[in-house]
Amino acid sequence: MKQMIEDIEVRAREELFININPIQAAGRLTPEAMKAIISYGDGYSTCDWCGKPFRLDKIRRPPISEFHVELAKFVGMDQARVVPGARRGFQAVVSSLVEKGDSVIVSSLAHYTEFLAVEDVGGVVKEVPLNEENVITGENTAQKIEKVKRETGKLPKLIMMDHFDYMLGNEHDIHGVAKVAKDYDISFLANCAYSMGVMPINGREMSADFLVGSGHKSFASPAPSGIVATTDEWADKVFRTTQMVGDVTGRKFGIKEVEMMGCTLMGANLIAMMASFPKVRERVKHWGDEVKKINYFVNEFRKIEGNKVLSEMPRKHTLTKVDTTGSFDKIAQTHKRRGFFFSDELKKRRIVGEFAGATRQWKLNTYGLTWDQIKYLTHALHDIAKKYGIN
Ligand SMILES: *Cc1c(COP(=O)(O)O)cnc(C)c1O
Repeated sequence: MKQMIEDIEVRAREELFININPIQAAGRLTPEAMKAIISYGDGYSTCDWCGKPFRLDKIRRPPISEFHVELAKFVGMDQARVVPGARRGFQAVVSSLVEKGDSVIVSSLAHYTEFLAVEDVGGVVKEVPLNEENVITGENTAQKIEKVKRETGKLPKLIMMDHFDYMLGNEHDIHGVAKVAKDYDISFLANCAYSMGVMPINGREMSADFLVGSGHKSFASPAPSGIVATTDEWADKVFRTTQMVGDVTGRKFGIKEVEMMGCTLMGANLIAMMASFPKVRERVKHWGDEVKKINYFVNEFRKIEGNKVLSEMPRKHTLTKVDTTGSFDKIAQTHKRRGFFFSDELKKRRIVGEFAGATRQWKLNTYGLTWDQIKYLTHALHDIAKKYGIN
């Protein structure tokens, strides 16, 4: 069966292939999440047992309210909410704190959704330059703050910093940046889209005012889903409740939270997140094994002449950017399929997820592959190199 219904094909990549797609790896669902999607797929399914005070995160059956408490604990913060993606987490925080013309400090490797969250409220992003190792440091952040202060006469309103960035998968000095944020009394959001749900994260230890995570990136959850967490100190601001009164009817909506649009992540997406949570909680304890596997992979990968790893070494994350300009790209120059020869060869070996046609710089993510799959992947690359006479 190729089509699930007319025009829409069955998706079976995870079943039929080894998938090294950089953004898909840690969002793969658990069987439990798949069950939740089937059972809770209907629109307002989570509202069966909703009662006073009528807010999603207060529902006790299924235990959505308990999940919120556990989630906050899991990331070392006081309060948490679920949102449709990390981006909606940035948006909630930025729109609560930043006004038109305000500056927001971000990384030179910041994700586009951080830019958009700032743009949405009329703020201006100011990027911190990378050091020689392609890492953001506290020192560079402090220098950027000084520069912004000189040029605009005002301190930035917020620092948003990626724990691991999406370009190289490098770890940035969150602690150093948090310290600078404290020194300047600027609020600090740690973007954990690539870390929350795959490794242990503790917002309190990071001295973060806000933590943002992505359900579909790193939490074995369907899209869209995400997490925004904060301290009691900031909760009243970011999770403020509606004050609006209807001028004709005098209606008020009590405890609905403005930034959450009342109720946020409803139905199957939330229940799937909850269904994956026990496994997510367990899997973060085994992050060390994932790091061992990627380091094994990159060491073998670099044995192919001309191959380079652009991400920091040794790897601290499974997301990795590589450069094959000196190897596979040389073959692509004269091959009739150009860069697609490489995808063809991978696909023949049941490997997908590299950027089709790319033979210069590309990204991969080995998260969740077994040792057998890692060795198979390594062998496949050696085999392709051999076939084309690369040493
Ligand atoms: C993927 C990603 C995001 C966006 O996450 P969504 O959950 O899709 O909104 C933001 N920041 C970084 C660093 C990311 O890698």
